[in-house]
Amino acid sequence: MIRLAGGSVAVIRDGAVCFEKKDIWLDPGLNLIIQQPSDLSGIAVETVDCSGKFITPGFFDSHIHGCFGVDISDASAEDIVRMSEELAACGICAFLPTTMTLPEDRIREVLQAVSDAVDLLENMTAPHADIPGVHLEGPFLNPEQAAIHSLEKDYPGLIKIIDIAPELDGADEFCREFAGRYVLSAAHTTADYGTALDFFARGGSSVTHMLNAMEPCLKRAPGIQGAAYDCSDVFVELICDGFHIEPPVLRMLFGLFEGRIVIVSDSMSAAGMPDGKYELGGAEVEVRNGRTYGGSDGRLAGSVTLVTEAAQKLYSYGIKRESILDALIYVPYKRLGMTPPMLLPGERADVNILAEDLRLVKVISGGRVV
Ligand SMILES: [Zn+2]
Repeated sequence: MIRLAGGSVAVIRDGAVCFEKKDIWLDPGLNLIIQQPSDLSGIAVETVDCSGKFITPGFFDSHIHGCFGVDISDASAEDIVRMSEELAACGICAFLPTTMTLPEDRIREVLQAVSDAVDLLENMTAPHADIPGVHLEGPFLNPEQAAIHSLEKDYPGLIKIIDIAPELDGADEFCREFAGRYVLSAAHTTADYGTALDFFARGGSSVTHMLNAMEPCLKRAPGIQGAAYDCSDVFVELICDGFHIEPPVLRMLFGLFEGRIVIVSDSMSAAGMPDGKYELGGAEVEVRNGRTYGGSDGRLAGSVTLVTEAAQKLYSYGIKRESILDALIYVPYKRLGMTPPMLLPGERADVNILAEDLRLVKVISGGRVV
């Protein structure tokens, strides 16, 4: 048995994250969280002192293109399994591999590799992150409806999120066809306030990496941000590396969208790798001090910050621990209509132990201290 003693445990009370002082018990053999045994005689107990620490379920990254040298666009099932092991060691217990704009046959190859990886992970006892499905970042358009139908027939249940640009021809038909079956998220869009409101009224329920690849919110053009604010059941993804959105704007957004923010990495294969030059999508990208530099003007070329590091950054920007953990653990599942992990007896033993500044101190995954 493992006993996590003396920590502040993240729990949900009245729909909000708060902390309770209590012990968490784990059975490493079963890889489960358990009730405190009533009789401890003859049971070997490894006590982990968590005083002054925060204990949470594992994190969930629902928008990730790659990390540790793996690029989802051309990864094999074995590459994805390796990515899943690396992510587990970083406190991330679930992720949605995310595609870029690719031809249908390439997307099919990605879905096949992910599907094979899910099969391999099912029989694996080593610590790993789960893959509840795939996020298709297109954006997708009307002519691609047929492609989605064909993919969902061959890979039932695998696709969870589809990104679309609501202002383009065919977006309405797309919503009519797929709203309710998938999370439809507005992405790479020039939609104004009215177009975005229509999209949310037709079943769109999310905005992909808010403020990036879309028009900004202006005083007489509230844009998709204003529409998302007005529709209180719409979720918003935020890339929280401090480069894609400046810290003061992140503070504003956490104030405005509390309870419906999904922290995502949107990271690519150089995440988790040392600084240097990488080839991404056929172009050279340099990584220096956690920022990417692409093209001749050194523009941002994606993120290399995993959500675990984002948590620490957000705390350093002055955002409350409760809000950060809500956006890292619970809201990502809510967006998908799934039940989040709650550190309750019977759940898989994926647990993070965090310092006061949300630095990851220890990960328990697959019943082991990783
Ligand atoms: Zn992306």
